[in-house]
Amino acid sequence: MTRQDPWFLLYGLSPEVNYILALCRIPDGLTPQKTAELLLREAGTAIVNGTPTTFSYHIGIYPVPKTGSLTASVLIDNAQAGPQQDSRNRSAHRLLQHRNARQRPSAAQDGTTHGKGLQQEEFKVYLQAKYDIQSQSVCAAEALVRWDSPELGFLMPGKFIDLFERNGFAIQLDYYMLEHICRMQRERLEHGKIVIPISVNQSALHITEEGYLDTMESIAEKYQLPAGLVELELTETAFIDYTTKSERNNTRHIVQSLKQMGFSMSIDDFCTGYSSIAMLQTIPANVMKIDRTMLLAAETSDRSLTILRHMVELGHNLNMKVVVEGIETRKQELLLLSIGCNTGQGFLFAKPMPHQAFRNFVEEHG
Ligand code: C2E
Ligand code: MG
Ligand code: MG
Repeated sequence: MTRQDPWFLLYGLSPEVNYILALCRIPDGLTPQKTAELLLREAGTAIVNGTPTTFSYHIGIYPVPKTGSLTASVLIDNAQAGPQQDSRNRSAHRLLQHRNARQRPSAAQDGTTHGKGLQQEEFKVYLQAKYDIQSQSVCAAEALVRWDSPELGFLMPGKFIDLFERNGFAIQLDYYMLEHICRMQRERLEHGKIVIPISVNQSALHITEEGYLDTMESIAEKYQLPAGLVELELTETAFIDYTTKSERNNTRHIVQSLKQMGFSMSIDDFCTGYSSIAMLQTIPANVMKIDRTMLLAAETSDRSLTILRHMVELGHNLNMKVVVEGIETRKQELLLLSIGCNTGQGFLFAKPMPHQAFRNFVEEHG
C-alpha cells in the first residue's frame, strides 16, 4: 500500500493486539471517512498462501491537530477509542470512528497515559459482596476496578474498559487487580482474619495472551493461597468466540490449568451469548454467573422464567455454584428463592465499595 498510495506514510504493527497503526496524509478532495472506506476496500482482500482471503477491520481515525502538544501515545489512544460497538462481530467491515480533532475528546481518550495511572495507583479496587439470599449474609465478593484519574475524574469501567481491551492495557490492569486481591487474601490469612473467596475479572485478551498460564502460575506460587480463595471471572463471550475444535481445546486447557493452580473459575454474564449451553460442555467452570438481563426478563415473561429456572437447575446438576447478578428488589430475591437460587449479587444487598467500607460491611453482615 505504501507503494500504491503515496498518502499512506508510515505504519507499525502492535505486538500485543492485532492492530496496525497508519499515519496518512489525507489526499486533496478526500475526507477522513472516504479515506477509511478506500483503505477498507484496498485491504479487504489479500492473497494468503495462494488463496484470496477476506479480512475484516475496525478502523479508528483521529485527525492529527495542526497545532497542539498531544504526544504520540495520546494520538494512538484517540485513534483506537471509538464508540462502543461489538468488536467481536467479525462478519462485516465496519468503520468505527471518525472523530473531529476540534471536538473535545471524551473521557479516557484524553491526555492521560493509563500506564502512569497504574504506577501512581490511580486504579482503585472496589469490592461488591455476593450473598446468601436466604440468610442475608456475605459469602464472597467481586473486585471491580475504578479509575480515579487526576485529569479525567472518577471513572467507572464502562468509560475505559473497552478502550483498554482494544489497546491491550486490560492485560496489565487485570494482573494489577489480581495481585492486589492475592496480597489482601494472604495478609488476612496471616493475621488470622476471616477470609472469603474474592473474584477478579479477566479480560478475554488473556485467552490468546502469550505466557498467560506461566504468569498465572508464578502469581499462584508467590501467594500460596488455599484453593478457591481467588476466583477468575471470564465472560461467556470470551469462551464462545472460539469456534474451531482446536481453539475450544485450548480454552478448555486454559481453564483446567488455572483450576489446577487453585483458582476457581467462573463464567460471567452467562446467558448473554448465543451458545451458552454448548459452552458448558467444553468448559469445566466452577461457577455460573447468570446475567442481570436474564433476571429482568424472567420477571416479565413466563418463558424466560422457565429458562432461568432450568438454567439454575442445570448449573447445580453440573456441580456449579450459581450466582444471579444485578438484584435490585426484594421481589427479585423472592423470585430467585422460589426457583432454588440461593446466591446473588446486587445493589439491594450491597453496592461496590472501597476496602474499609467493605470490611465494615462484612463485619455487620458476615
Ligand atoms: P461484571 O463483571 O459483570 O460486574 C458486574 C457489574 O454489575 C458491575 O459494574 C457492578 O457494579 C454492576 N452491578 C452490581 N449489582 C448491580 C445491580 O443491582 N444493578 C445493576 N444495574 N448493576 C449492578 P461495574 O463495576 O461498572 O463493572 C462493569 C464491568 O466492567 C464488569 O462487569 C466487568 O466486565 C468490567 N470490569 C470491572 N472491573 C474489571 C477488571 O478489573 N478487569 C476487567 N477486565 N474488567 C473489569
Ligand atoms: Mg464480573
Ligand atoms: Mg457480569
